[in-house]
Amino acid sequence: MIEITNLVKRYGNKFAVDDISFTVGEGEIVGFLGPNGAGKSTTMNIITGYLSSTSGVVKVDGTDIMEDPLAAKKKIGFLPEQPPLYVDMTVWEYLSFVHELRDCKLNRKEHLKEICEVVKIWDVRNRLIKNLSKGYRQRVGIAQALVGNPKIVIFDEPTVGLDPKQIIEIRNLIRRLGARHTVILSTHILQEVQAVCDRIIIIKEGKLVADEKTENITRAVQDNHRFNVKIVGPQREVLNMLKNLQGVSFAETLGERDGDSFTYRVESAPNIDIRKILFHALADKGWPMIGMEAVGMDLEDIFIKLVDNKKA
Ligand code: ADP
Repeated sequence: MIEITNLVKRYGNKFAVDDISFTVGEGEIVGFLGPNGAGKSTTMNIITGYLSSTSGVVKVDGTDIMEDPLAAKKKIGFLPEQPPLYVDMTVWEYLSFVHELRDCKLNRKEHLKEICEVVKIWDVRNRLIKNLSKGYRQRVGIAQALVGNPKIVIFDEPTVGLDPKQIIEIRNLIRRLGARHTVILSTHILQEVQAVCDRIIIIKEGKLVADEKTENITRAVQDNHRFNVKIVGPQREVLNMLKNLQGVSFAETLGERDGDSFTYRVESAPNIDIRKILFHALADKGWPMIGMEAVGMDLEDIFIKLVDNKKA
């Protein structure tokens, strides 16, 4: 449905997008994940025809976006990070306006009613957009992306600035849209793509560093290899023991004394579950372990892990 080959976008000497290739199949929900500045918006803007590339080919449903931008654009609905809303219009007026602007051939009333029902804004259709909450405005933004029933919908950071309840609602909505559309979701939040997407493409500094099924990334993230452990005992001796324990790749003391205990960060070598080893070693020494907490990986850790895996 979307084919991207050797895409490059350069600003002066800086590569915002540096030779990225990937494809997205029909009906897939693909997450485009990366830290701020990674090149996500630039890529989205090129796919949607808002920005030209320096080199490379983008095909949307077989149509080259450079050769026939209008035809390609018609197949894509886009929710940019800042949705283009006219706040002095009512929801219905605005969607009617978009319908006309896109020269949409579908019956206006029926089509817009259906969209309003899908994104649950039918009840507010006669309200001025400026009087809507941020969550509802975001739904209106999603609604405009659906006008014309495009095969592909692209969302750029759709939940930024929303409260937790709204975030869950918007994520559920995007998942539902996946039943009828090919969806690309761009975000810097790992949990967002985990919650919504079948597949995750990760970019960093303009380069593609991973293209994996969500379950593989999730497995990598859940890999229990890093813990904060609270131990009662003499700090230097405890740390020394931890550092020399078989299976431990790294140990350090974290923070200050809490009563007669200290907290230590302990990391294991890959594929070793150090929890039992720790328990027995500490019991042998008579140093009670009074807390243990798995420390999750953040995006940066995942990049390192993925890049390391590729090298291995
Ligand atoms: P993301 O969406 O992942 O946060 P962007 O695609 O917005 O990243 O930006 C990628 C890189 O390109 C950033 O380093 C950004 O500063 C740079 N960039 C984006 N737009 C421009 C521009 N118009 N001129 C110069 N540099 C830009």
